[in-house]
Amino acid sequence: MRVHQFHIPTSLYLGPVNVHLVDESPLTLIDTGPNLPEALEALRDNVHRVGRRLEDIERIVVTHLHEDHSGLAATIGRLSGATVFAHPWEADRLRGYDDYLMYLPLLERAGVPADVIQVLRHAYAEIRRLGEDIEEVEGIEDGSLIDFDRGSFEVLHTPGHTPGSICLYRAADRSLIAADTVLANISPNPVLSPDPLAPSRRFQSLGEYLVSLARIRVQAPTVIHGGHGPDVTDFESHFLKTMRSADERQSTLEGLLESGGSTAWEACVALFPHAKNEHRFLALSETLAHLDFGVSEGRFRQAWNGDVESFARTRGRE
Ligand SMILES: [Zn+2]
Ligand SMILES: [Zn+2]
Repeated sequence: MRVHQFHIPTSLYLGPVNVHLVDESPLTLIDTGPNLPEALEALRDNVHRVGRRLEDIERIVVTHLHEDHSGLAATIGRLSGATVFAHPWEADRLRGYDDYLMYLPLLERAGVPADVIQVLRHAYAEIRRLGEDIEEVEGIEDGSLIDFDRGSFEVLHTPGHTPGSICLYRAADRSLIAADTVLANISPNPVLSPDPLAPSRRFQSLGEYLVSLARIRVQAPTVIHGGHGPDVTDFESHFLKTMRSADERQSTLEGLLESGGSTAWEACVALFPHAKNEHRFLALSETLAHLDFGVSEGRFRQAWNGDVESFARTRGRE
């Protein structure tokens, strides 16, 4: 099975995104790059270089809804007639659900000040411009196979980075296309999302993420192609490092919470005092992911102060 990796430019701080072309029948693109002219041009050039055309693409698989991965899916679908596939939990949002309205109650509960909510709203609109609504998205479930004339990938639903993130596992050589679920040099952010099964609640992103990593570990992959940066070839040490740094962050956060309780926003400012505006949403996501995980582990407890949540430690100085 021939699989090509292309590096497509984005305007994001993470730099280029890795997309994959499976050069078999049906010709399949896994992730697309953002909806930017320079990304489309780079993708077109790369596909030409391996003797194919964008118009020849027969199937598009989107690993998760983020615009750097899915932004060109609508364009390529129009050019080629290819069908777009994604996990059902991402499909609604790929079709163009207004995320901001969904996020607003989560931000208010977290105690984010009104002026910061406006900054986040602006940043969100900027990012959204890197995407385009996709009219038709076919759902692919955990365990289903993406078949080719020669070979196949198994879909692993690996919630965490987003609720409907998937990885594609190829048993023949134990390789994994993991997108943002496994990145070589950065710990992927468990991004704040509503729970797809109970949208008024937060998705338990960190707890789910660690379970997903354990699930990948069971497959004992030999090489992992992440969504940004180089491959990961030693998943075992990547896994252990991730578990260790999650534990360290839990301890740091524990030391930062006020004895009377802190809102998620207060904890976020204490944990990431230098976060720039454009990174505040990710900083808040990381903080909330850790607060929720700490609550599930009995390390923190959650209380309500009117409509705003607060978090306090359950042990040590009270
Ligand atoms: Zn992502
Ligand atoms: Zn990404």
